[in-house]
Amino acid sequence: MHTHSTASDGTLSPAELVRAASRAGLDVLAITDHDTTAGWEPAVRALPPGLRLVRGAELSCRWSGTEPAVPLHLLAYLFDPGHPELVDELARVRAAREERGERIVALLRADGIDVSWPDILAGAGGGTVGRPHIAQALIRAGLVGSTGEAFGPDWLGERYRLPKEDIDVFRAVRLVRAAGGVPVFAHPRATRRGRVVPDELIADLAAAGLAGLEADHEDHSPAEQAHVRALAADLGLLVTGSSDFHGTHKTVQLGAFTTGAEAYERIVDAGVTEVASG
Ligand code: AMP
Ligand code: ZN
Ligand code: FE
Ligand code: FE
Repeated sequence: MHTHSTASDGTLSPAELVRAASRAGLDVLAITDHDTTAGWEPAVRALPPGLRLVRGAELSCRWSGTEPAVPLHLLAYLFDPGHPELVDELARVRAAREERGERIVALLRADGIDVSWPDILAGAGGGTVGRPHIAQALIRAGLVGSTGEAFGPDWLGERYRLPKEDIDVFRAVRLVRAAGGVPVFAHPRATRRGRVVPDELIADLAAAGLAGLEADHEDHSPAEQAHVRALAADLGLLVTGSSDFHGTHKTVQLGAFTTGAEAYERIVDAGVTEVASG
């Protein structure tokens, strides 16, 4: 229920992604590229027999209830990709990503690190630009050995980390619902990625229309997974599990975590866009 293609910062094209999901034995796959629906059409065209495709996106959001704001990710499933306000907001965030990427590159260059913004943009191949693309430039320059290292404190994780103009999370939840979609909070307790939001905020989001929480994710410890499950039960939210597959930009494999049939049915029933079948 959560994967990335070359439409954002994954390394498989949408067509390669659906074929890989079929080979991995999955019966359902969600494509959830960062802030874009550009992968939907090529993924549907390439759908292998027996695989169902949930069309979605992962929205870059922020919660401004604390200073500085906490960045967070909202999965959105089965929404109308033509909803004008949502289309505008996604375009705005993608532009903000480019602007932030360019500023990160300027910081690196000011420290004498030879990375080039045009090369990084070219590396993203027209997809939504993210820090994994900058990580690739650091690897190409021989400065780090892996994406994981590039996200360490000396690099993109802290020293060269800059915020971007994300969508207010309450606005995002309402927009996704207005577009007929189903909003699910991605990796809400991933303390190893940085600051997380309090449970009270998640309760407020549930009241505003949040449908579910992603519990099983490689960035959650077993205790964090259990906490998210218990919170979802308290709030009447559905629970998902997913790999957040990014191809070779991460080590996790497709299908590493999966979502139960009941949660899947709730998502399908609530979404305005049909699940595509191969
Ligand atoms: P951005 O969306 O540009 O802020 O970059 C965040 C993306 O980088 C997310 O999609 C993560 O999957 C990826 N990412 C974050 N931390 C790591 C890490 N430690 N190793 C590999 N990828 C990471
Ligand atoms: Zn990503
Ligand atoms: Fe995410
Ligand atoms: Fe993701």
